[in-house]
Amino acid sequence: MGNSYDIRDWIDKRIKPEQINKYISKGNGFINIQKINAKLSEKKSSDPKKIKDILSKSIEIKTLSLEETACLLNVQDESLIDQMRQAALKVKKKVYDNRIVTFAPLYLGNFCVNDCLYCGFRKSNLEAQRKVLNMDEVGKETEVLAGRIGHKRLIAVYGEHPLNDIDYILKSLGQIYKVKVPARKGFGQIRRVNVNAPVFSIEELKGLKAAGIGTYQVFQETYHEPTYSKIHPQGTIKSDYLWRLYCMHRAFEAGIDDVGLGVLFGLYDWKYEVMSLCAHNIELEEKFSIGAHTISFPRLEPAQNSPFTAKSGFKVEDEDFKKIMLVIRLSLPHSGMIITARESASMRRDSLALGITQTDASTRIGIGAYSEQDCSQDIGRQQFILGDTRSLDEIIREFSQLGYITSFCTAGYRCGRTGKCIMDLLRSGQEGKFCKLNAVLTFREWLDDFASEETKKAGEIIIKKELAEIENKLPEFYPKLVEYYKKISEGGRDLYF
Ligand code: SAM
Ligand code: SF4
Repeated sequence: MGNSYDIRDWIDKRIKPEQINKYISKGNGFINIQKINAKLSEKKSSDPKKIKDILSKSIEIKTLSLEETACLLNVQDESLIDQMRQAALKVKKKVYDNRIVTFAPLYLGNFCVNDCLYCGFRKSNLEAQRKVLNMDEVGKETEVLAGRIGHKRLIAVYGEHPLNDIDYILKSLGQIYKVKVPARKGFGQIRRVNVNAPVFSIEELKGLKAAGIGTYQVFQETYHEPTYSKIHPQGTIKSDYLWRLYCMHRAFEAGIDDVGLGVLFGLYDWKYEVMSLCAHNIELEEKFSIGAHTISFPRLEPAQNSPFTAKSGFKVEDEDFKKIMLVIRLSLPHSGMIITARESASMRRDSLALGITQTDASTRIGIGAYSEQDCSQDIGRQQFILGDTRSLDEIIREFSQLGYITSFCTAGYRCGRTGKCIMDLLRSGQEGKFCKLNAVLTFREWLDDFASEETKKAGEIIIKKELAEIENKLPEFYPKLVEYYKKISEGGRDLYF
């Protein structure tokens, strides 16, 4: 499909209003601008007793109400902010302990029929070098990621275009899962592919579910409809705010129970956006009993032929960005939080104490860039310029030195611990014990297969500490863990609880 008539026809058939009408009353979705603004202006004073009560609720791993989130967003007092930081650490420790998950983005195609004013892939960017990876190239990219770097998780990223439509996406997922590369002791393999893709119909989402995706991730970009309409030109698929807003409702209807929400910070007022993200999570919890598995909060970066990125008027400064992470950690205590290589190394380091649970490493966002020698960041081929291009090995070394264990565990979704089940386990702290055991086993695999000598040294210290802690705190699991650990040290792979 290539000529403009065919493409217009394809675009016109994408949106299926009958799949969302039942959720919409009088043309309005679940985000109410007036109500959110009213809550933000009502909850200006920060009574220390009230803040203390809110923080206790977070520490009990309960989702905060919008009023409570508004209170936290409005806190200015440094000593209260300090209490918020301490509470965020407690939440993180309780749900995720000292584990951190790593992944890599894999950009498969940058053709796009949309024209989002902030994105280098927009159709009006005539200088973009457009490419969709063929299956052979998808295999080569995966071989580098899984076989040379040692990633076990990817987020596959796609533009919206007939050349990378749902059939292409399903084929590419199959190709990624097929790759198996010998490594030093075992083998490299991608065990979980999350997807950051356009919004789909229920039928297409059923296909994604059947392909074995991990998290289905879509960012609303902005929940402020007037701003949304300004930056997504009329006539494009993405200009339909409600079709996008209800994409996760359709995902749940299609049987996907692991979803990732996000906002592109810098398009509109950040406090409004945090409130709306939380409102989206509450809506999903109310309707489907499952909240967001992960939250992403990319900040707007400069992009080729996208001058809007420099003049949105809502740039988020570093201190406010840290407050965003802090409030999300406290408001949505069970959700994973993802910071990406868009941010600098020092911001990523600081974010660890604010409750981050996942980050990417060895990141390249040019189409086909992992299997090329040239690692220059050519803006014509990628969406924006990265802030931190350190390798997975370097990042893991740093995490180890800071006392974090990197987990490559992908067991949860492969043995049915997803959706409501995982939410309940996370809330009760039960999932933690499986995660702790699997973190040790998968980290052992990675150290043996991929670590440099220097990183291995730092990693061994952490792993020893974790083993001792498990023997002490989870004695009932220790003998089985030792059995698996020994098998893995001898080259066995993919053993998990
Ligand atoms: N095409 C799909 C979509 O729009 O949802 C998925 C891929 S798109 C490349 C992934 C995300 O990149 C978008 O949801 C947006 O939040 C983010 N993005 C786009 N332009 C950006 C920029 N200039 N800086 C930072 N993030 C950006
Ligand atoms: Fe296309 Fe997504 Fe970029 Fe918009 S953000 S232009 S939909 S790739």
